[in-house]
Amino acid sequence: MSTVFGLIIEGKVPCTKVFENERILAIEDIHPVAPVHILIMPKKAIANLQSIQPKDLPLIAEIAQIAQQIAEEKGIEEGYRLLTNNGPDAGQTVFHLHFHLIGGRVLGHLG
Ligand code: AMP
Repeated sequence: MSTVFGLIIEGKVPCTKVFENERILAIEDIHPVAPVHILIMPKKAIANLQSIQPKDLPLIAEIAQIAQQIAEEKGIEEGYRLLTNNGPDAGQTVFHLHFHLIGGRVLGHLG
């Protein structure tokens, strides 16, 4: 079953795009928790980090590289967080792998 991010990738739900190539999409989070809150995701339907197969690992490296680029473009390269919530107990609500790029304010320690 398609998730909201699957529908966004298919162009069936609107979003504010920050970056796109054949493999990766980055969009503004609809409920930002910081001045910069961007979601970076593979276009391939992968539920979460725990579902990643070895052949998909290059996507993770590419996401890290794109996070670096976006952080520089947004001027937050001195301090940002890149995180993924894996599974319901970690607060994952959309079961299409995505990484939150969060910054633009002082971020507290993880609780
Ligand atoms: P998670 O809880 O880690 O699965 O993160 C899901 C994120 O997706 C949340 O931060 C939501 O605010 C965000 N979100 C949900 N629907 C949309 C949407 N249509 N466009 C952009 N962000 C969304």
